[in-house]
Amino acid sequence: MAIASGHDLAGPRPRQTRRSADLADASLSDKALEIHRRLCPVYGCPIPYFHSLDPLSELVSSLLSHRTRNADSGRAFKALRARYPDWAEVAGAPVEEIEATISGVTWPELKAPRIRAILAAVAERHGSLSLDFLRGMEVEAARAWLEAIPGVGPKTSAAVLSFSLLRMPALPVDSHHHRVAQRTGLIGATVDVGPSHPILRAQLPSDWSAQDLYDNHEILMLHGQAVCHHRNPACGRCVLLDICPTGQSQRSSVREP
Ligand code: SF4
Repeated sequence: MAIASGHDLAGPRPRQTRRSADLADASLSDKALEIHRRLCPVYGCPIPYFHSLDPLSELVSSLLSHRTRNADSGRAFKALRARYPDWAEVAGAPVEEIEATISGVTWPELKAPRIRAILAAVAERHGSLSLDFLRGMEVEAARAWLEAIPGVGPKTSAAVLSFSLLRMPALPVDSHHHRVAQRTGLIGATVDVGPSHPILRAQLPSDWSAQDLYDNHEILMLHGQAVCHHRNPACGRCVLLDICPTGQSQRSSVREP
């Protein structure tokens, strides 16, 4: 799954310091829940997890997936697995060799040194090449630990916690999810993917389980892929039309003489 844009590759950004309760607008929380309630039956919640990787492998997979089709990033991940017996071997491999192994993804020349540097950073900061220890941390602390590594942003940190076998309650936001959130008015038009993470998370109940948050991400992502297309959203068959300002404005502009 291409869950990330190239933004994470640009390095860490300042941490969001406002508390979740400060970020949540009650009416937007109600709308976020209504969107969840309507989309869940359409896409079949609870949605099965698409990965069962350990968190370090999920981190590498997530880095490969930036701006890359799922099939291509999946092939590159398998190629890395086939060529190197473990992630320590990748961390010690020549960068040109890694780049050739992942040549099917977007920007292999950036991702190869980035993956190697991030693996080295994990080993240096934790003392071994594993992220299993994150399981014992609070979500925000685990995200902060990951995002302190250059090249790991909020989308990647949330993906590692949510999609890996850690199965922690974190909300990733990919470009499809972000587009639906913007068009439905959950976030403003100028809110980028990174800053949208704490806002969208704060709109959902604080006690939601990992599965609930995973479902929320998946249904908004799937809706963006299947109906709310980047170009020509299919508003006429969208179950959110009556509560979506973008869909309403498009409908009224079509009606105008
Ligand atoms: S009504 Fe249109 S713009 Fe709004 S969420 Fe549905 S498809 Fe997207």
